[in-house]
Amino acid sequence: MNCLIVYAHPEPASFNGALKDVAVRELERMGHSVVVSDLYRMGWNPALGPGDFEGGRANADYLDLSREQEHAFAAGTQHPAVAAEQARLAAADFVLLQFPLWWFSMPAILKGWVDRVLSRGFAYSAGRKYETGHFKGKRAMLSITTGTASTLYEPNGIDGDLHHVLWPIHNGILAYTGFTVLPPFAAWMPARLSPQERQACLDAHAERLRGIERIEPLFFHPWSDYDESQRLKPGVVARSGVQWNPRAGQSFEASASAFAASSGA
Ligand code: FAD
Repeated sequence: MNCLIVYAHPEPASFNGALKDVAVRELERMGHSVVVSDLYRMGWNPALGPGDFEGGRANADYLDLSREQEHAFAAGTQHPAVAAEQARLAAADFVLLQFPLWWFSMPAILKGWVDRVLSRGFAYSAGRKYETGHFKGKRAMLSITTGTASTLYEPNGIDGDLHHVLWPIHNGILAYTGFTVLPPFAAWMPARLSPQERQACLDAHAERLRGIERIEPLFFHPWSDYDESQRLKPGVVARSGVQWNPRAGQSFEASASAFAASSGA
């Protein structure tokens, strides 16, 4: 299997760096081939803008980013850094995003990798999203670290359920482009752990990676559950853990129990 790790932490000796090293070691030990995009080390420019289209614009008078991305992809005039990352992604069967949770999301450098690399034309196009997404058949997983304890990210925690926090990435980026999404690995507040607890966390990450070919992916409703307005059909009980369907007589509370029942949570 070809694996791509996209790694976003500025400090090589960080716990994120250690998790990335464990992943490289473990995946290679399993016989997989591993490529790492170390975004800070590469000096990755996160800003999607006119600089990506210096090879020729579809419209020189008005910058429509989606249109220019599609044009550059079709014309083979993309920025070389974007094209190089797309080649890595196209070759990958498994993509691991390794990052610290910053402001309930990914660091800007990684978001900018998504903005530029997952371009229209390459990662999505008219009528091709979710089940019919470009990356159907590939698997992806998040490996995150936090500054606080797991309890804060439980359904009744002050920061909110981790599934809700990560939904924009799981659903809006990965499932949207067709990936099968594996449950995330979370290293909770590594800065406050003892050396033994940190080692146990690294071991747990290696153990999780050993199971990536067997692990049950996150559930996303298939197209057949949606009507023409792209809402869950009346009667379809939401099971994603984030959506709930008033048209199925479902309350917000019932959606949590439907999710718990289907995920074994
Ligand atoms: P580090 O501080 O690098 O590592 C922790 C410890 O592990 C260090 O002592 C390090 O030396 C040690 N270590 C490194 N390698 C090893 C190894 N091989 N074995 C054993 N120990 C090792 N947190 C949230 O929960 N939610 C947020 O929304 C959020 N927003 C943030 C926004 C910003 C801009 C910033 C800067 C932080 C935010 N945080 C947030 C906190 C952040 O998520 C954590 O600081 C981060 O996840 C910790 O991971 P790290 O890799 O940086 O840890």
